[in-house]
Amino acid sequence: MIFYIEDVPPEAQTLLNGGIDMEDTQLSLKNVSFSYHSRSGEVRALDSISFHVRAGEFVAIVGPSGCGKSTILSLIAGLLRPESGDITFYTEDPHDKKPGIGYMLQRDHLFEWRSVYRNIILGLEINHQLTPEKKAKVLAMAEDYGLTPFLSKKPSELSGGLKQRAALVRTMALEPDILLLDEPFSALDYQTRLNVSADICRIIRSAKKTAILITHDLSEAISLAERVIVLSGRPSRVLKEIPIRLTLQDDSPLAARNAPEFKTYFNLLWEELNHG
Ligand code: ADP
Ligand code: MG
Repeated sequence: MIFYIEDVPPEAQTLLNGGIDMEDTQLSLKNVSFSYHSRSGEVRALDSISFHVRAGEFVAIVGPSGCGKSTILSLIAGLLRPESGDITFYTEDPHDKKPGIGYMLQRDHLFEWRSVYRNIILGLEINHQLTPEKKAKVLAMAEDYGLTPFLSKKPSELSGGLKQRAALVRTMALEPDILLLDEPFSALDYQTRLNVSADICRIIRSAKKTAILITHDLSEAISLAERVIVLSGRPSRVLKEIPIRLTLQDDSPLAARNAPEFKTYFNLLWEELNHG
């Protein structure tokens, strides 16, 4: 069956019909299954999950609550091992070292007893990488993200948006190859969320980082990601991968949501989640 969505540009139609480009693949999951074993029994979380992510790509994963989204990130981060299937990283590094993984979570996890500055250098400090060059880089990043005036403040003195920026700087300070974002905006109120998510996304894009964003908010997935992977309920399977191409009027956080194609994508994802 040829898949066609009205109002979607031609190149996106090709992508929808299986023309997804395997070039520049940085990460692939192939038939990855995973179950949790506890005293009360077995929980089958993932059932043969396969997808790939290109270098520099921004991918969103959506799926019902409890379906196994966070589990996928834990597997990619190497905190859990697949029960079967493979997770492969492709690297141009001649020494084939494992890629650096940066994790950003729902709560910013800033420490109140440390200043903002001492929070953003925390990762470097823990990893014994606090060299003068890295310190200078972090300060430059803080400047770029408008955090300089707040460096000596305590996290509680910052707005939710600034806190998430500080958390992002701390993550980026370790120069990860892949960023894993587990519902990083869901603790923010709606209005802040619109601005902060667009803002954080712009930062990640301009740094050309590969990012995998977990969200249960379809609008957020469509407005931020280049491709949305839709998961079924537990045990999770990939129902569909939908490339997103929006015609943007301007650079505002709301632009994507006002794009003419937005509603079509929303309905498509909604249908897929509810009847896929
Ligand atoms: P999501 O992030 O999509 O909400 P998770 O990946 O956190 O889902 O969890 C998937 C399923 O596995 C859920 O049903 C959850 O209750 C279960 N689960 C998660 N962690 C554990 C664990 N450590 N032990 C047992 N079951 C778990
Ligand atoms: Mg989760």
